Amino acid sequence: MTFNVKRIENVTSQNIIATKQPTKGDDTEIVHISAHFDSVPFAAGASDNASGTAVALELARVLKSYPTDKELRFAFVGAEEIGLVGSEYYVSQLSENEIKRSIANFNMDMVGTSWEKATAIYLNTLDGQPNLVSETALATAERIGTASELVLYQRGSSDHVSFHDAGIPAVNFIRREPGTASLEPYYHTPLDTIEHISAERLKEAGDLVGASVYSLIRK
Ligand SMILES: [Zn+2]
Repeated sequence: MTFNVKRIENVTSQNIIATKQPTKGDDTEIVHISAHFDSVPFAAGASDNASGTAVALELARVLKSYPTDKELRFAFVGAEEIGLVGSEYYVSQLSENEIKRSIANFNMDMVGTSWEKATAIYLNTLDGQPNLVSETALATAERIGTASELVLYQRGSSDHVSFHDAGIPAVNFIRREPGTASLEPYYHTPLDTIEHISAERLKEAGDLVGASVYSLIRK
């Protein structure tokens, strides 16, 4: 067996940030929606994480014309797969005042798999404890009739960690198998392609996160 090892140094990644100012007032509370747009080598990354990126983009399109009384930030972050680098940088650039005003982070990572066993939407928090984001999502699911089971779960391993570490209530929304918490078998493989994405589940994630966010930022 022969290995060819190439060392890559000084590579640059990007974050793309979009802000929706409140209709009235400034210095309002801030709600962050985040999704990473990088993937692992040799994987197309349809689920991980074009799914979360696509839902966040759609929410930006829909929410931009609604009057809102809080600031909404969309953080499309890079370099998650090598250690949450993009989200850590994003959060590190927030001023003390912005951190203080930040009330929630809705992070979407792998929200659209069509794997039939992933019937639950997991709400992952760092400490496994409920917070404003998980409570809002549970109440919203009840109100809008989200079909999938929601499971509060203790797990890091995505960009919600960076927000949590700064003291911002954060949840990672992710599809898993209830009970086992297993991820889809295509995870981090070349099979992570659009054939294994469910449009219906993307919509379910968008409805849930969109309605939850709106309930926090609406006038
Ligand atoms: Zn991911």
